Amino acid sequence: MILIVDDKSENIYSLKKLLESRNFKVDTAFSGEEALKKILKNQYALIILDVQMPDMDGFEVAEAITGYSKSKDVPIIFLSAYNHKDKKYIIKGYESGAIDFVLKPIDTDILLLKVKTLQRLYYQTHELNVVQAKLLKEIEIRKQAELKKDEFLSIASHELKTPLTSIKAYTQLLERSLDNNDKSVSRIYLERSKVQLNKLESLIADLLDISKIESGELKLNKAPFNFNEMLLTTIDIIRQTHNNTNIIIKNRAIEEDVFGDIVRIEQVIINFLTNAIKYSEEGSLIEINAFVEEEHLQLHIIDRGIGIPAEQQKNIFNKFFRVEESSFKFQGLGIGLYICSEIIKQHGGKVGVLSDVNKGSDFYFTIPLHNK
Ligand code: ADP
Repeated sequence: MILIVDDKSENIYSLKKLLESRNFKVDTAFSGEEALKKILKNQYALIILDVQMPDMDGFEVAEAITGYSKSKDVPIIFLSAYNHKDKKYIIKGYESGAIDFVLKPIDTDILLLKVKTLQRLYYQTHELNVVQAKLLKEIEIRKQAELKKDEFLSIASHELKTPLTSIKAYTQLLERSLDNNDKSVSRIYLERSKVQLNKLESLIADLLDISKIESGELKLNKAPFNFNEMLLTTIDIIRQTHNNTNIIIKNRAIEEDVFGDIVRIEQVIINFLTNAIKYSEEGSLIEINAFVEEEHLQLHIIDRGIGIPAEQQKNIFNKFFRVEESSFKFQGLGIGLYICSEIIKQHGGKVGVLSDVNKGSDFYFTIPLHNK
């Protein structure tokens, strides 16, 4: 919209008619003060300012506009009976050059040409500003991602080094116990090394999964499988690898076969269960609730652990996300849940969490029972 500012209504009327006849949208103000009020409220693409006005003249209005961040780049055409094209009338803040003069009596062809050019300039600048803001935002997002990646790399190397250092130490102790022919002690060190090796293996598997997800190569091997059998085996694996666990299955068995990638679904359940153990007190109760509803399998793993603050729950399945309050106390990479959510997504399902701080969490997923 174009704003015409002139104290003489006959001038405004003829200019308004001329511009409207060329399909420009026009607003009017009869004084500098009225113009400033309107400029504060509305967005204009061009202002046509009469220079000779009582009280506040056109140059004073322009000077005032440069102070408004919203309209400091709006082009101005000054209408004047005199030629002001000398340096002292170049208004500060308008160095962009989006200023022009039209001498009275007005040559309408010249005025229209200037209106068109300046209005186009305004819209182009506006578009450029939008693109620039978008680019700046994009750069900021990438910078953040880069920072997260660096942070992840340093945590990942630390996480990989910890079991490796333990294995090295146990191997030396094993060597010494073998020298002493102490078989029972050797066995203990061997067992401890095995635990650390398993940790290392699962860390590397997670890292490989992340790179597969990034390159879109996390392929599933879907087939019908017996869900109950898989669940019982999974719980057995957890009981063997974690001492003092208290896991119960709440409901009766699921009769139907489930269609999916058994290895990947087992991976999700192991991940939910190990988190439930890791973020709870030793031996505290963990419930598994699996059932079928509306042709979907739904599985909940409910713990009575530290819980997750409400404002952090929405990010919990994001890559590299760890709850800040607990990240110093518990080791981890913040990728397990992200991998789980990608696996479930590829099954056409959904993951979610319900949680209360210091009361516990309910991590769940649903997947369609059958292939569609
Ligand atoms: P990691 O445990 O390796 O950090 P995850 O992706 O498995 O990574 O989990 C992401 C974050 O979610 C964890 O750092 C932890 O803060 C939080 N979290 C996951 N499971 C639970 C749970 N059962 N109870 C409380 N917090 C949890």
